[in-house]
Amino acid sequence: RLKSLGKKGRNGPSVRHVHVIGAGVMGGDIAAWCALKGLTVTLQDQDRGRVAVAQGRAHALFAKKKKDTREARAAADRLIPDMDGKGLRHADVVIEAITENAGIKRALYAQIEPLMKHGAILATNTSSISIEELRSGLQAPQRLVGIHFFNPVAKMPLVEVVETPETDSDVKAAAHAFIGQIDKLPLPVQSTPGFLVNAVLAPYMLEAMRCVDEGIRPETVDAAMVAFGMPMGPIELIDTVGLDIARDAGQQLSGQASTPACLEARLARQELGRKTGQGFYQWK
Ligand code: NAD
Repeated sequence: RLKSLGKKGRNGPSVRHVHVIGAGVMGGDIAAWCALKGLTVTLQDQDRGRVAVAQGRAHALFAKKKKDTREARAAADRLIPDMDGKGLRHADVVIEAITENAGIKRALYAQIEPLMKHGAILATNTSSISIEELRSGLQAPQRLVGIHFFNPVAKMPLVEVVETPETDSDVKAAAHAFIGQIDKLPLPVQSTPGFLVNAVLAPYMLEAMRCVDEGIRPETVDAAMVAFGMPMGPIELIDTVGLDIARDAGQQLSGQASTPACLEARLARQELGRKTGQGFYQWK
């Protein structure tokens, strides 16, 4: 399963145009990353405000990564807000990054599949829904593949390519090539709960919160794991991912309905982490 880790999938025709649906935490940052890497990106959301916020974050990324202001401006020009989804018809890759709900995702696929270009890949960024469940109802189910980016997109090199025995081999190859093209590392994984990385991470984050419940300060837990060699402590990671998402993933992957008390208390106060400015830490 780790065969391709560290190698970039450079084979296959290169992608020129990506259409991203869902301009939230992930879709907005995936769109920005693809534009930074030279692709034309159309970004669609049902909520215009989310696209505007994503553009703001993208411009900050371009300014940071491109020292030449003309290059930063060119990247900004490549990221095109597309409320009507016109870009869907021309894109080589369509990335779906909408709400984590199988019914909502399938309803979207039914609308967009007939409009997609022949041979275009349909990729979902789902963290927890199986590819099998999502592709039922598609006219060409073999074209759906998981392309699972991690948060924050600009900092995380790994992207899981989630496949099943039915996934078309050309689609798999094209997905790997695309991820290599945008300077990320593709890791093939099977469509099992948590895929690979989150299956390992969920119990790690849960145990970190149990330590907090037992009276150890979040700063202490994080400092210990950073000193151990992790790039970021587990509690800071939970703030980055979002406390609501950490709860859902933890419940699904551990099979336990109960959540740590420290998490429950913050969720009750709508303290969801970086995205709300307050989680275990204060971010604004
Ligand atoms: P989010 O709530 O921040 O964004 C979702 C966006 O989708 C919203 O802007 C919403 O307006 C839009 N949307 C919903 N239904 C739509 C529709 N039918 N058409 C157009 N737009 C629609 O969510 P997120 O955290 O970015 O998660 C998106 C996907 O990425 C989910 O599948 C999630 O599991 C996955 N994911 C999330 C993370 C994370 O850390 N947040 C990490 C990896 C993968």
